[in-house]
Amino acid sequence: MTYQNVIDSHFHTQSMLQRGMDVFSLYDKLFSSGFHGGIDIGCMHDDLPERREFLKPYPKILLSGAMGPWEAGRSETKPLEPEYEFAQIKDIDQIERELVVLKDNIIRYKACFIGEIGLDYYWDYGTHEKQHLIFETQMRWASEMGLRVLIHDRDADDETAEVIRRLGPERGGIIHCFDGSSTVLETALDKGYYISFAGNLTYKRNTNLREMLKKVPLERLLLETDSPYLAPVPLRGQPNNPSYIIHTYECAAETLGMAPEDLAMIIKENFDRLSACV
Ligand SMILES: [Zn+2]
Repeated sequence: MTYQNVIDSHFHTQSMLQRGMDVFSLYDKLFSSGFHGGIDIGCMHDDLPERREFLKPYPKILLSGAMGPWEAGRSETKPLEPEYEFAQIKDIDQIERELVVLKDNIIRYKACFIGEIGLDYYWDYGTHEKQHLIFETQMRWASEMGLRVLIHDRDADDETAEVIRRLGPERGGIIHCFDGSSTVLETALDKGYYISFAGNLTYKRNTNLREMLKKVPLERLLLETDSPYLAPVPLRGQPNNPSYIIHTYECAAETLGMAPEDLAMIIKENFDRLSACV
């Protein structure tokens, strides 16, 4: 398939830049091949000013800003692991100060989404209480500000679903890198969310995830790379970038028994509906 009408609902430009990837020539090439747009995801409370600046030439890349669960600081229950990026324990005061900075940036830099936010009990950042404080504060802002959220859920399906059920937000959001939980799927669809599948959809053993794909109404479906992570088959293991999304489109289209071009058209319309963000 070509890049005509193709979108990528979740990628991290800043993380790709940090890995020395030539991101902007890649974006130029993609857009001149018909690529439609995407959402650039924030990771840290203070990254919006820089990201707004370097994404200025790309009006079809929407900006999201947030404090992810990793900003709860180093796990206070698990031993420090070598891969751990966040080596410091954070106190509540610091978390609250950072939330203030973030809220100001979301308004000032006109972020379209709040995300990615959520719970990560795999790495167990900080404590569960601190993760909930960060997550729920931003869920409330989303309702206040009329913004949608992008949800990160790792090994915390039930609690994530509970927070979504309780706090919405009003305009819903996107479940990022959906992992196949039926509780999360039902709750999220009920609350008006879109469901975004990442490159792990293409992994051979993920038959269940492909089965779940068939349960998502087409008008709520999105696809993403989560670049630079999670490259799809046949590029698994390489640093990911938004051009690799094509493999996920082809896998999803095959699973659904559709032409990839028809699927791209539907997902483009979904994306355009979400783009009406401010
Ligand atoms: Zn991500």
